[in-house]
Amino acid sequence: MDHGVRVSVFMQGCEFHCKNCFNPETWDFEGGKDFTQETIDEVMELCKKDYVKGLSILGGEPMHPKNIEATTELAKEFKEKYPDKNVWVWTGFKFDKDLKDKEVLKYIDVLVDGQYVEELHNPTLKWKGSSNQRVIDVQNSLKNNEIVIFE
Ligand code: SF4
Repeated sequence: MDHGVRVSVFMQGCEFHCKNCFNPETWDFEGGKDFTQETIDEVMELCKKDYVKGLSILGGEPMHPKNIEATTELAKEFKEKYPDKNVWVWTGFKFDKDLKDKEVLKYIDVLVDGQYVEELHNPTLKWKGSSNQRVIDVQNSLKNNEIVIFE
């Protein structure tokens, strides 16, 4: 898949604290910038260029109860505005166990789920850090009511 240019948003705050997390400076919920409508507007503006193929939402933890509302608003507005561009989200939560009934999934194309596990790290993996994580085709998974792996 050609990813082209993507805009990335890092949600601040994560309680998983995986060993050797790639981004521990995002653990603190008090850090980062306030998330407001202005933030969403800024992201929309950045994404409007044709060469921007999609939006990546990472963390921290975009699906933490303190962040999921913001993630939902952001992804929803993005898909309404840019239905032909894609939304990818990285989360330590599990699609089937934790997220299946959440509204946010309606607006996500691909979800990379599961915590990073140092012992299962493999640098040759695509889009994920450890082999326990899954790269999920969200819309087909919802349609088929089972997990469909992306690719
Ligand atoms: S879930 Fe992600 S951000 Fe949170 S500790 Fe694990 S690797 Fe780091």
